[in-house]
Amino acid sequence: MSRPESPKTLADWQALAASLTSEKGLETRAYIDDAFVDADSGETFTTINPATGEALAEVASCDAADAELAVGHARAAFEAGEWSRLAPGRRKKVLLRLADLLEAHKHELALLDTLDMGKPVASSLGDMAGAIACFRYQAECIDKLYGEVAPTGEEALALVLREPLGVVASIVPWNFPLMMTSWKVAPALAAGNSVILKPSEKSPLSALRLAALAREAGLPRGVFQVLPGFGHTVGQALALSMGVDCLAFTGSTGVGKQLMQYAGQSNLKRVYLECGGKSPNIVFADCKDLTRVAKHAASAIFHNQGEVCIAGSRLLVENSIREAFIDQVLVAAKRMQPGDPLDPDSFMGAIVDEAQYRRILGYIEKGREEGARLRVGGEPLEGPGLFIPPTVFDGVTPEMAIGREEIFGPVLSVFGFDSEEQAVAMANDSVYGLAAGLWSQDIDRIMRVTRRLHSGQVFVNNWAGGDQTMPFGGVKQSGNGRDKSHHSLEEYSELKSVWISLSS
Ligand code: NAD
Repeated sequence: MSRPESPKTLADWQALAASLTSEKGLETRAYIDDAFVDADSGETFTTINPATGEALAEVASCDAADAELAVGHARAAFEAGEWSRLAPGRRKKVLLRLADLLEAHKHELALLDTLDMGKPVASSLGDMAGAIACFRYQAECIDKLYGEVAPTGEEALALVLREPLGVVASIVPWNFPLMMTSWKVAPALAAGNSVILKPSEKSPLSALRLAALAREAGLPRGVFQVLPGFGHTVGQALALSMGVDCLAFTGSTGVGKQLMQYAGQSNLKRVYLECGGKSPNIVFADCKDLTRVAKHAASAIFHNQGEVCIAGSRLLVENSIREAFIDQVLVAAKRMQPGDPLDPDSFMGAIVDEAQYRRILGYIEKGREEGARLRVGGEPLEGPGLFIPPTVFDGVTPEMAIGREEIFGPVLSVFGFDSEEQAVAMANDSVYGLAAGLWSQDIDRIMRVTRRLHSGQVFVNNWAGGDQTMPFGGVKQSGNGRDKSHHSLEEYSELKSVWISLSS
């Protein structure tokens, strides 16, 4: 079958998928030092396409032995200095080449993510644009980040140098596989570190393809390695390793808490966490164009099947417009039905795996039991794939599980409020603080509420706006790190103070 270079239709994507999943098209081994190898144990795990239930590939299942090996190579590469001490402008060239290679292979990479975790291919292509932009931005930053000369007297020259940390282990989730990877890997590499990537066991394929492209781009051996496998095996080994200087994690709050403990039990490595959320989206009665805002509110939760850390999963609506507004949200939700992820027109795809599917359906059941009013959805589609339609509950209260806990699926919980004060209190009544949105035309109110929201990011009259120039991350139990922007590059470097005595 011929392989479409630039797929556009469902048939094109199906043809590309068939060519990729043929036995020789897919790399499934770990990438250690500068070679693709089986796991030391020889073990593998199966990655499954959740839209069809079919097995995609057997992937190397790394464990502590592979972690130790990779950490040794990473350290050796760091000390050798071929990358860590390379002039920033030359590191930039290699990373820009990698960005070009990602661009050249974006269809294939997008497809791997879609097949692995079920998201619509149009959305995966959007992720690729984000990943490529991230590599380009971080590459461009490298030779623009200065150290400092401290303002001392003439008896000394005092320098504050920025140096790479050493070995960085990046542990990432499955919901935006390559994009989350790029947010971690690009700045860490740009800063001169050696990076070991552990992709999610639910979406390892694009990470392995990235390894091959990184080699082609010219990253020296040992500087970038990929260890597929499970969290409790290879992930834990990396987190406990005495040879890892920094853990850069995106994933659930529960695992984030474990990683901090592992750091305490081992070498006090830096731990940057990007964790979960239950983000409030506040709609005031004075917002402009109810229909448009309702569409955004629906897409804020149903995009990527609701499997989004910043999903606008708590919709807070001023009671005076609540009924009319919910009607519009329901209209929008009904148009966002899940479909074949390979169809470029699908807005939603399949849920990542059986466990997540059961978890989401469990929350829907709980919502019914707790007395919330189910307005639309609630029933999964007929198999074989794992599809759940947009589901909206109204009359949710902060005590209900669906009002407090991260569901990570297409389930919207709607609350009503009567005053600005009440809206802010409800929005902040969460252990999370990743994102928040507000819709209003009153600039005084916008700034008052924005300043009072406990949140790493606030979207005003939009949801999820941002680009590479803006840091991304949360407060409270949503984590402590910041991805993207020059702030993330700074996180991957250490300050060294140098005091040089001078004679007059
Ligand atoms: P998860 O925490 O289950 O897994 C994330 C990664 O950690 C995976 O690679 C997993 O294998 C690994 N892991 C699991 N247990 C581990 C352990 N004991 N030691 C070391 N590694 C371990 O999360 P997930 O289900 O993959 O992703 C969904 C979660 O990620 C949601 O909570 C979501 O909000 C969060 N997320 C946050 C952001 C953000 O930027 N804040 C972005 C995307 C996803």
